[in-house]
Amino acid sequence: RVPVLAVVGRPNVGKSTLVNRILGRRVAVVQDVPGVTRDRVSYDAEWNGREFTVVDTGGWDPDATGLAERIAAQAEVAVSAADAVMFVVDATVGITDADEEVVKVLRRSGKPVVLVANKVDDERGELEAAVLWNLGLGEPFPVSALHGRGAGDLLDVILEVL
Ligand code: GDP
Ligand code: MG
Repeated sequence: RVPVLAVVGRPNVGKSTLVNRILGRRVAVVQDVPGVTRDRVSYDAEWNGREFTVVDTGGWDPDATGLAERIAAQAEVAVSAADAVMFVVDATVGITDADEEVVKVLRRSGKPVVLVANKVDDERGELEAAVLWNLGLGEPFPVSALHGRGAGDLLDVILEVL
């Protein structure tokens, strides 16, 4: 069986951009229109000759009430079907309530988690990313999904836990 990597996190942190970066092509929809995108979309991925399935999540309305709970519920479904999880946080924003809700789900799941500090577009952003140690999930891996910075190193780490 091909291992499954779930990509979770609140809206707009760059999950779909990162999925496209991993796939090396633009398939996942960036800046999803609320209500249009399905909740979970699976893609076949490959890195260093190893195949895995990457599951992009999203599709909820960012303006909905109880957003943090919805994100956590969505993460729960995706995580239960995954072998490992990539938890994406926007390093330029820092830790939000919704991020904390997802962390609870991830802890309960017992699955391996790779913490991604996204939108670290330059060296300066790495200082901001260090704040994400406070999530208690270990080392945050700084990447720029948009520009590709750190993406290769991240994929190496993912293969180690997958
Ligand atoms: P999702 O809702 O988590 O799937 O986020 P998207 O992938 O749709 O991205 C949301 C917005 O963040 C888009 O405008 C992206 O271009 C932008 N974005 C994603 N990754 C990066 C990044 O590494 N750096 C910067 N500056 N913007 C990013
Ligand atoms: Mg998305």
